[in-house]
Amino acid sequence: MKKHNKNEKEANNLEIWTKVKNRLRKELGETLYRSWLKPLKLKKINNNSIIFSAETSLIRDRVERQYSERLISIWASEKPGIKKIEVFLDDNKNLKKNNINKSSQNPLEANQVYYKNPEISSLRPSKEDDILMSLLDKKLTFENFVVGSPNELAFAAAKRVAEAEFVPFNPLFLYGGVGLGKTHLMNAIAWVIKNKNPNRKVVYMSAEKFMYQFIKALRSKDVMNFKQEFRSVDVLMIDDVQFISGKEHTQDEFFHTFNALVDRGCQIVLSADKSPNDLEGMEERLKSRLGWGLVTDIQPTTYELRLGILQSRAEIACINFPKEVLEFIAQKIKSNVRELEGALNRIIAHTTLVGKEITLESTIDVLADILRANNKLITIEDIQKKVSEHFSIKMSDMFSARRSKSVVIPRQVAMYLSKELTNLSYPEIGRNFGGKDHTTIIHASKKIDKLLNESNSISEDIRLLKSILSY
Ligand code: ADP
Ligand code: MG
Repeated sequence: MKKHNKNEKEANNLEIWTKVKNRLRKELGETLYRSWLKPLKLKKINNNSIIFSAETSLIRDRVERQYSERLISIWASEKPGIKKIEVFLDDNKNLKKNNINKSSQNPLEANQVYYKNPEISSLRPSKEDDILMSLLDKKLTFENFVVGSPNELAFAAAKRVAEAEFVPFNPLFLYGGVGLGKTHLMNAIAWVIKNKNPNRKVVYMSAEKFMYQFIKALRSKDVMNFKQEFRSVDVLMIDDVQFISGKEHTQDEFFHTFNALVDRGCQIVLSADKSPNDLEGMEERLKSRLGWGLVTDIQPTTYELRLGILQSRAEIACINFPKEVLEFIAQKIKSNVRELEGALNRIIAHTTLVGKEITLESTIDVLADILRANNKLITIEDIQKKVSEHFSIKMSDMFSARRSKSVVIPRQVAMYLSKELTNLSYPEIGRNFGGKDHTTIIHASKKIDKLLNESNSISEDIRLLKSILSY
């Protein structure tokens, strides 16, 4: 009986929700409705509050900030008594987006959907802050950073530094390959610190700039002044410190500045492409000093992280990408996040210009050169190795002249895949197969093409091998 009542109540609530949604849809228009209200899931109603869940913090924050009042008043007109709404994140999402500005009440304009960092505009920066702020990028916040296993440690450490009352570890040293999010995390730290306490003096600069300023100070015999400038700093962030490798004088100055700042309780955050120990041309004492705090790396992205980033970016741009397109890009573009974003932006630009729907075909077309560059990573040797393993033949049979069928077909498959997956010409491929003539390779390619058309079992082998080799 109780259950029956409950179901009835739920059905009732859903009905009201549908009505409310329809009214909001009319008021806001299709695009805003689809982006923000449609994704909300009604969970339950507790006394006077409605509980929703959302898949991303972007949606949650936006709804809470901008649409809650209207939603409540429409709801109350259907059924009085509702006073507030609460939006929770779906907990079954494994890639979390992060929320740091939840308490913000600062409404954003409707056309500022792209990135969110509401407090920034309310800061009243001093002249020094102007310089800092102009160096920082509004898009690079913790909130816009997608966390996955390759970067979760670095993310947690950065957040800790940003939110701590006292210096938790000094320095925080972030390292990792190009385009994996080091600069992003440093910017995010700066935003949080400035938002929490606009009076704290945060200095963010590239190591190149540090070096340049130091050299300039040396030339104009103004090193005292240079040092003075760093005196009052609360947080010093130097990006890409590998740039001061080999620059002894700058390193020296850096070392002293560093020590003086640490002694004064200033938080230091550094980034580099390698760990302190692996930085070449860096003085030993500096290396060891750099490693005193917390050294944490950002690993190359995984497929899941890439997909998470793509989904987040697509959402931010309010563009509906077919799932298979995002999956395809995440599979294909593995070098770094910057390239991943570049690919996505290119598709967005293309769609906006041409006004056509995004499909897998159009994606492949638009990204042709990027995809080729990423494919270059596959070598003929990789192909020969995987194909021999797959057909259980010896690697040496790839180069031999043996004509038995058990080795001829695998060898032809390897030749075919070499043409498909690398940028090499027929003669170059021939050379890599024990000096075979280019006509042999052409023949092999044609033969396999023909077998594929006959939907021979070989097509399954090739599909499998291609995916093993590509991802
Ligand atoms: P690095 O400084 O390590 O070379 P960046 O911080 O400049 O890399 O990152 C390159 C681009 O990729 C930036 O646009 C950044 O916002 C984006 N990016 C990197 N990692 C992530 C992530 N985990 N989530 C969202 N965007 C990311
Ligand atoms: Mg960087």
